[in-house]
Amino acid sequence: MKELTCKLLVIGAGPGGYVSAIRAGQLGIDTVIVEAAKPGGTCLTIGCIPSKALIHAADEYARVLEMAAGRSPLGITLAEPRFDLARAVAWKDGIVGRLTGGVAGLLTKAGVKTVQGWARFRDGKTVEVETEIGPQVIRAESIVIATGSVPQPLSILPLGGPVISSTEALALQEVPKRLVVVGGGYIGLELGTAFAKLGSAVTVVEAQDRVLPLYDAELTAPVAKHLRALGVTLLTGAKAKGLTEGGLEVEVGGESRRLAADRILVTVGRRPNTAGWGLEQIDLVMAGPYIRVDERCRTSMRGIYAIGDVTGEPMLAHRAMAQGEMVAELLAGHKRAWDKVAIPAVCFTDPEVVSVGMAPAEAKQQGETVVGLFPFRANGRAMTLQRDDGFVRVVARADNHVILGIQAVGAGVAELSVAFSLALEMGARLEDVAGTIHAHPTQSEGFLEAALKALGHALHI
Ligand code: FAD
Ligand code: NAD
Repeated sequence: MKELTCKLLVIGAGPGGYVSAIRAGQLGIDTVIVEAAKPGGTCLTIGCIPSKALIHAADEYARVLEMAAGRSPLGITLAEPRFDLARAVAWKDGIVGRLTGGVAGLLTKAGVKTVQGWARFRDGKTVEVETEIGPQVIRAESIVIATGSVPQPLSILPLGGPVISSTEALALQEVPKRLVVVGGGYIGLELGTAFAKLGSAVTVVEAQDRVLPLYDAELTAPVAKHLRALGVTLLTGAKAKGLTEGGLEVEVGGESRRLAADRILVTVGRRPNTAGWGLEQIDLVMAGPYIRVDERCRTSMRGIYAIGDVTGEPMLAHRAMAQGEMVAELLAGHKRAWDKVAIPAVCFTDPEVVSVGMAPAEAKQQGETVVGLFPFRANGRAMTLQRDDGFVRVVARADNHVILGIQAVGAGVAELSVAFSLALEMGARLEDVAGTIHAHPTQSEGFLEAALKALGHALHI
């Protein structure tokens, strides 16, 4: 059996693992990364990027459909637009190929050795990898576990046949006529919106009393309104009971209903990938289903770190990347610890939702606050983009005006997330935002105006 020794072994080349390996390589650490599938992990191959590609295709199609229907106030007309999902999926696969190839190239450039195969712990310093050319043993001084997450299954709706997860939804060759989405969270609403725009009759079955329950009701109301305008049926407080002939049986308000469906997309969360790689050999302390880590991503075993989705919420690519970079720098002897003020959350629905830091209700529990909300209907740029729904909202301490949280809902507001994160990370006060010139005409002026509103002197409302 072949043996390899290295200073650092990273298991899993998703955003957490590949960033950790690249940074370690840059810092001169002798690094090996093991990946069973493709470099880039869930995010690049079956998650963030493919879903955003599909969402973009759906947005483009919805736009031309509106023009073809003679509804465009811009004076543009078109005849008979068609959509070919197989072609759009091939285009998406091309983007995935470019990105996964790019990550492989970056790893090589940083001097990282990549081993393709499934890794399994033998003990705290040794891993065995099943590769195409036989087993490979790797001994390492330090190991980073970055094995990510997998879709949470529903026992009453096992995957197969019409029941699919996001992975299959992103590879469909035809738009389903009737799509039932079980779980109205991130994935269910991002993909549900895209398929509704592509022509599916979409029904969302959500257990809680509103969709996107992770965010506050004020923030998500414009999303629910737009979904209804797209013809999506939102069944909240609803429970999936099981498959029936040609569809799904659900319970809503104590009554049983049958939903006809060609595909049933199950998106009820993701669970950490802790099975099949020998966790039992190293017996780490867990935090519920996740691997417990401290503020340096150290596990309960010396020399073993864990990052990304396998360590818990929020399961977001940018959190995994930041943890990966930190661990590499710690291993190079840098003084680092997890000291982030906030992790931005963006939901790519239509309109998009951004939340950084605390929502008003949460902030209020810490003391007296001021809140400023500026609606996009008073923003010139939003009007010229034909999308003036949504708002920017800022919450700050009442005494010293230090900003505690910033949220927005609106078309394209994902790109505002960086301004919000920077303000929180820099410890900005309302006056700092109010004193910064925001380019005109941009949607970002909504941020300036929300801060002014909280100070009591908004200019454009
Ligand atoms: P992963 O990306 O899951 O990577 C883990 C890798 O480890 C995988 O490639 C796997 O093959 C490999 N692996 C596991 N075990 C082994 C083993 N024993 N041996 C070898 N290899 C192994 N997040 C965002 O921030 N923004 C978004 O817009 C977004 N959209 C999403 C859309 C969808 C449809 C989905 C499913 C997820 C989305 N996410 C998004 C979440 C994001 O994909 C994850 O948070 C992110 O990928 C986590 O990174 P990770 O490195 O922890 O793990
Ligand atoms: P989620 O946690 O966002 O949403 C799951 C939803 O399913 C919740 O609203 C929950 O109330 C509902 N639910 C749970 N059990 C149910 C049941 N039996 N019947 C009906 N509804 C039920 O999970 P997800 O959409 O699967 O996404 C998984 C994770 O992937 C997210 O939490 C997020 O971390 C990540 N993600 C992020 C993005 C992004 O950043 N834009 C996009 C997609 C996914």
